[in-house]
Amino acid sequence: MDRSHLLSWVELSRSHLYHNIASLARLASDSQLAVSVKANAYGHGLAEMVTLLIDNPKVAYLTVHSLEEAQVCRQSGWTRSIILLGPAPINRLDEVFELEIEPVVFTLPALKRLSKLAAKRKQPVKTHLKLETGTHRQGIDESELPAFAEIYKSSEYLKRPFGASMHFANIEDTTNHDYALGQLKRYNETIKSMTKLGIKPKVRHTACSAAAILFRETRFELVRPGISVYGYWPSKETYLSYFMSGGSNDLFKPVLSWKTRVTQIKDLPAEAYIGYGCTYRTTAPAKIAVLPIGYADGFSRSLSSVAYVLIKGRRAPVRGRVCMNLLMVDITDIPGVKLEDEVILLGSAGSPGETGRDTQPHDIERITADLWGQWGNTISYEVLARLSPNLPRIIID
Ligand SMILES: *Cc1c(COP(=O)(O)O)cnc(C)c1O
Repeated sequence: MDRSHLLSWVELSRSHLYHNIASLARLASDSQLAVSVKANAYGHGLAEMVTLLIDNPKVAYLTVHSLEEAQVCRQSGWTRSIILLGPAPINRLDEVFELEIEPVVFTLPALKRLSKLAAKRKQPVKTHLKLETGTHRQGIDESELPAFAEIYKSSEYLKRPFGASMHFANIEDTTNHDYALGQLKRYNETIKSMTKLGIKPKVRHTACSAAAILFRETRFELVRPGISVYGYWPSKETYLSYFMSGGSNDLFKPVLSWKTRVTQIKDLPAEAYIGYGCTYRTTAPAKIAVLPIGYADGFSRSLSSVAYVLIKGRRAPVRGRVCMNLLMVDITDIPGVKLEDEVILLGSAGSPGETGRDTQPHDIERITADLWGQWGNTISYEVLARLSPNLPRIIID
């Protein structure tokens, strides 16, 4: 596809996405796969990701945070199951039936309302009960189970929860997994209590990416990965834990690249300030390129004078503050940069053709969301989730 009319765009690699899905399906071969597409599909673009996921039969479910996201999934043609992880306003629970989605339930009023609506509409609904095991976010305590069981058992259309879920608090942030395994133990005990109360769930699901990758016993009937589907390890600690237990490092390849173009080139003398606040000053004559993207597009202001971008396969450091829609990079030592040349903000570059040099594999330059996370004191998840939904998304290969 011709991109010459675009100044900034996101590329999504179908082959990398399918590679990541195949890796997860191989790891969790006894479980169904639910792909998390919340936060605009981790910034990748919800509608575009849904169209790609439709074509992959290994993906049985999508998980979303909001009713609005579920709506986009349906409008984009997704007909398989959708689990709503987040809350819905009580007075909009009708939409659960209209969109035919499976809500995760963690309050009595929501379950009561669903039971009432199901009876009124004579339409069954698959609900998932969220269990508290130590994350202290959403989830119900074991002591609350009898009240929930009563509603389930009195409802002709609910009967019992279809699924039971939990979420780990401390699985990707450490190589010590005692807390996570304690949560798993509590989950298994709570499932036993549910069974005793006559509300045994059919589908148990606990595993985010890190859990699905590291612990077979968290996978159950369904796994719910997000970040790994998009080609990132949840953290260095997860990668280390996996690697130390003999795993390989080629499981995941980043799906997303973000590119822009040089829109102005200028020569500066020594002692020239660059950008707002005069935070950067040249020490020698320099050549800078102005790029038409900034923090409003998802290039965080915390990357000011810290990050670099790739032009002709080489690093061009960001000079001065990142503006709302513009940023300046130093190209003094990159020969031959022309107006409208492509710039890589996130992604990899470095084929010999691009750099004009004899490139070795270790020479290939990559800018990952993990690197941005290190630079900006955050994590890949936030870097990706904050990419502007207004950037055009283009599906490649
Ligand atoms: C986002 C989310 C996931 C996916 O987590 P990753 O670390 O991105 O794999 C799984 N379960 C729940 C409840 C979530 O909110």
